[in-house]
Amino acid sequence: AKAVGTGRYVHYDPVMSEEVEARRRLEAEIRRSLHDGDFRLHYQPIVDMATGRVAAVEALVRWQHPDRGLLSPQEFIPLAEQSGLIGPLGDHVLRAACAEAAGWPGDLKVAVNVSAAQFGNPGLFDDIARALAATGLPPRRLEIEITETVLLENEERNVAVLRALADLGIGVALDDFGTGYASLAYLVTFPFSKLKIDRRFTGDILTRRECAAIVCSAATLGLSLGLTVVAEGVETADQLEVLRLTGVTQAQGLLFGAPMSAEAIARRLGSEMFA
Ligand code: C2E
Ligand code: CA
Ligand code: CA
Ligand code: CA
Repeated sequence: AKAVGTGRYVHYDPVMSEEVEARRRLEAEIRRSLHDGDFRLHYQPIVDMATGRVAAVEALVRWQHPDRGLLSPQEFIPLAEQSGLIGPLGDHVLRAACAEAAGWPGDLKVAVNVSAAQFGNPGLFDDIARALAATGLPPRRLEIEITETVLLENEERNVAVLRALADLGIGVALDDFGTGYASLAYLVTFPFSKLKIDRRFTGDILTRRECAAIVCSAATLGLSLGLTVVAEGVETADQLEVLRLTGVTQAQGLLFGAPMSAEAIARRLGSEMFA
């Protein structure tokens, strides 16, 4: 054991140090991949219920790992958040999404996920403003997707940042609605423009009365507050048919397209223009 300060001892733990070592390695790989451009965005269409046309596109990050292939966000976002690398990674995502969206036809919005850890960065607002300025994307074409976690931590500071973003004309969407708690109070305090009903409710809309009831009341609530309401995770035509009865504004899910490469979404948007 090694003496630390006065009279306290830290025992050397080989398992702990292996974990620390693995974590360090992964952090170094994230840094390197940021430098090498191995983080890619995939884009998933969000369609308008009334017209069936794409109304917005959500950017979802992937890691094209040099040895391990394409990794999903769950495999690296948590570590990036813990290590502080979510700052540079989030900024990369934001800039790439804005640059891509600036080339899309019409008034399409791009939605970017911003996690609670990113709100810990006092430069977040400036980073977002700079990404818009650098790419020429108008603020009204950018949407930030946040979860309740953002609202639980540093409520006062984060609400100020969200207000400033909303004042610029940037959309603020509450993601995974219905999975946390106290959401209703937040609807009063925060400047949301959109509510995204979590896919666990949409997924069971045909099989569980409770889920149908939750989707219905969330849609009614959101619409009566003047928000755009999105149902996430729509996979079948039957689900879509029932969703029509709830009044939701937009839908997203495998039925309309899985997340796809920048080239594929650009093709899809281009072909819709002439449809
Ligand atoms: P999310 O924001 O709730 O994103 C929706 C997830 O649902 C995506 O998973 C998407 O591929 C998946 N999905 C879409 N339609 C369907 C469907 O019909 N059925 C099913 N079963 N799944 C569907 P993905 O891409 O693996 O992302 C997972 C999570 O990682 C996201 O959840 C988001 O919280 C986070 N994430 C993704 N990209 C970013 C990013 O750039 N920054 C941050 N901070 N987080 C991100
Ligand atoms: Ca999202
Ligand atoms: Ca979601
Ligand atoms: Ca989620």
